[in-house]
Amino acid sequence: MGSQEVSNVDWQGKHVTVAGLGVSGIPAARALHERGALVTVVNDGDDERSRAQAAELEALGITVRLGDGDTLPESTELVVTAPGWKPGKPLFQAAAEADVPVWGDVELAWRLRGPDAAPWLAVTGTNGKTTTVRMLASILEAAGLRTAAVGNIGVSLLDAVLGEETYDVLAVELSSYQLHWAPSLRADSAAVLNLAPDHLDWHGSMDAYAADKGRVYEGNRVACVYNAQDPATEDLVREADVEEGCRAIGFTLGTPGPSQLGVVDGILVDRAFVANRQKQAQELAQVEDVNPSAPHNIANALAAAALARAFGVRPSAVRDGLRAFRPDAHRIEHVADVAGVAYIDDSKATNTHAAEASLAAYDPIVWIAGGLAKGATFDALVTGAAKRLRGVVLMGADRALIREALARHAPEVPVVDLERTDTGAMSGAVREAARLARPGDTVLLAPACASMDMFVNYNKRGEAFADAVRELADESG
Ligand code: ADP
Repeated sequence: MGSQEVSNVDWQGKHVTVAGLGVSGIPAARALHERGALVTVVNDGDDERSRAQAAELEALGITVRLGDGDTLPESTELVVTAPGWKPGKPLFQAAAEADVPVWGDVELAWRLRGPDAAPWLAVTGTNGKTTTVRMLASILEAAGLRTAAVGNIGVSLLDAVLGEETYDVLAVELSSYQLHWAPSLRADSAAVLNLAPDHLDWHGSMDAYAADKGRVYEGNRVACVYNAQDPATEDLVREADVEEGCRAIGFTLGTPGPSQLGVVDGILVDRAFVANRQKQAQELAQVEDVNPSAPHNIANALAAAALARAFGVRPSAVRDGLRAFRPDAHRIEHVADVAGVAYIDDSKATNTHAAEASLAAYDPIVWIAGGLAKGATFDALVTGAAKRLRGVVLMGADRALIREALARHAPEVPVVDLERTDTGAMSGAVREAARLARPGDTVLLAPACASMDMFVNYNKRGEAFADAVRELADESG
């Protein structure tokens, strides 16, 4: 079961350890058990929920060990891990010592897909993945193709690959964790949207994080799509080992060169997939066709268009697909206008790079920020946004890091530190922001941090914000 060997594993009697009871672990355990593997699931937690899940699997004949995710069961021949498990965990050290391969959920789906399986168009990057994958699926649908947006996006790849439905092509979102554990994945074409420090506590270093992102280009057949305005993504293309004839395609918010997609006079144009790219450019869509048409989102649209064009999709389908696309919740979502102030929910801005994009889209801004910093620093973010800040409201565990950056680079901007990390703090944050804002301003929730110190996830954080805004609107009548 070396990493070079694709598909056709004879699972009968293979000892497989599935690491983690969860959204990827349970379907993986079931799928492998159905194929005749002898499956043991190991899980760190031993709470009521995991006991109930374990009981269901045990009823099928699957072994489950709760409360010990660190010991490698004897005679394990393969570990299939939940993507979030850290590479430094003792389980993986034990696997490495015993020469046992480790696959993630993506690798497993890739290996279990059938012989006529749909090709994958893959998207990764620090920010914009979900948006781009959904745009891509919308474009592919507009072209009449059977497709789905899958991966790190709610629909599991394993379900997409093993389900009854057949597809012409899949639009696949891949996180850096998933790529880390997917050694033999070979996408038809792939895009790295951008690269900024994130999840460094998991990967150990920026180089390791970039290398895992870069894996998405390995073995590409048609196109490696990179961000011409983010040289780190182009470096990854250069380092990738691709199929003969695979092209490097750039996207840019400026005028595109040959083999690039870009923007000219408010029009998204293609100078890559045209007959004469030295002289010719093909109109794909208008900037207004992209929803919302903030600069970073135009970049996402260009990346999606590049992947679709690499798959042979006609220009009019790119336009139709972009027009039909609706953004997901909590991504620069306009909640309400109250007393002439716009309230925008970008709870999904869970890192500084994402917050930078949404802070660049408004002026003046009352910024609500804070949460778990995940090892990030805030100096560059604050410096870039300082001129547009009317005021800042801070909350969450790592708020002091932002407060200190503001003191260093924007000492004149009023800052309200709520000194709170409880769920109820959001309502106070919105009130303080309303107090700081003047008509014509935007109150922007773009925390630049993860939410788990105060909320279950970023959705809940965004909902709390929207609730507080509606409360404010009701009161102001
Ligand atoms: P991901 O799936 O990578 O987390 P999303 O599409 O869900 O990305 O967007 C997450 C957040 O990242 C958005 O709320 C927005 O603030 C920001 N964002 C989206 N696209 C980009 C981009 N191309 N560059 C920088 N930030 C972006």
